[in-house]
Amino acid sequence: RAKELGKNNYQFFTKDMNEIIANKMNLELGLRKALINEEFELYYQPQVDVGTGKIKGMEALIRWQHPEHGLVPPNQFIPLAEETGLIIPIGKWVMQTACEQAKKWEVMLHRPLRVSVNISALQFQQTDFTEVVKEVLETTKLPASSLELELTESIVQDPEQALPVMNQLKEMGVLLSLDDFGTGYSSLSYLRSFPLDTLKIDKLFIDNMNDVKDDAIVRTIISMANSLELNVIAEGVETVDQLTSLAGKACDEYQGYLFSKPVPHQDLEKILQANTSTMPVI
Ligand code: C2E
Ligand code: MG
Ligand code: MG
Ligand code: MG
Repeated sequence: RAKELGKNNYQFFTKDMNEIIANKMNLELGLRKALINEEFELYYQPQVDVGTGKIKGMEALIRWQHPEHGLVPPNQFIPLAEETGLIIPIGKWVMQTACEQAKKWEVMLHRPLRVSVNISALQFQQTDFTEVVKEVLETTKLPASSLELELTESIVQDPEQALPVMNQLKEMGVLLSLDDFGTGYSSLSYLRSFPLDTLKIDKLFIDNMNDVKDDAIVRTIISMANSLELNVIAEGVETVDQLTSLAGKACDEYQGYLFSKPVPHQDLEKILQANTSTMPVI
């Protein structure tokens, strides 16, 4: 295309760049407005005990109810929110809202329920991050042990920065989980030295469990997690076959469309109420 345009390709690319910048600026403006106008919404996906079928907790996943474009998934705006720093107020809103909701459900069901919140690297690196967590727990009165923070391998990649913060959070009683395990670069020695509670096996490995090698990887991750006394959750479980296979490998919990997609809080409330008696899927 650029070749066809010959001497004009400079202009061509410039116009293209302008468009990209304009789109980004529109999106950034939209995100700022969304915060003020309360257009964000949390969906919740149950995390289920493989053995009993009982819901142990749920992951809060952000959605943007856009006035014109409808429901926007996080992959379409979280990257720009991170780039612009807007993830800091957005992330705080997520944590506050998820903890408020979890507190309501604990009161309703008379049992502890864990809520997992995704944390971006930029959020985690703020010097007041632990203060923000403390404040949210105080205002919502949710026990610290009911809040789990999902960290990515990119966060723990810098142990000198991450470890003191993780230790502080552990002292507060907050649970820590390593999300998307297997897709990043974290080494086994990291797993040993970090104060983690949960390991989440990425959907990629669960998808390919019919492959002998991937099946072996999943088996190894689970047995390693078990020996390190980590709670292990399989992400993106869609079929009974996958669940059966995970049960055979002594996986603790699973999360995926097989049990439920992420749903609005009203829908999760119904699922929670129906789940009080344990009913295994397999
Ligand atoms: P994640 O934390 O790994 O979340 C799991 C994603 O897998 C969710 O996508 C969920 O809907 C999807 N999923 C769960 N089970 C299945 C399944 O059985 N099949 C398939 N195909 N997908 C499944 P979602 O909600 O679109 O979120 C995507 C990513 O966006 C999340 O990945 C997380 O990295 C990020 N994210 C979501 N909410 C937040 C947030 O509040 N803050 C931050 N910083 N990131 C968030
Ligand atoms: Mg997650
Ligand atoms: Mg994940
Ligand atoms: Mg993922």
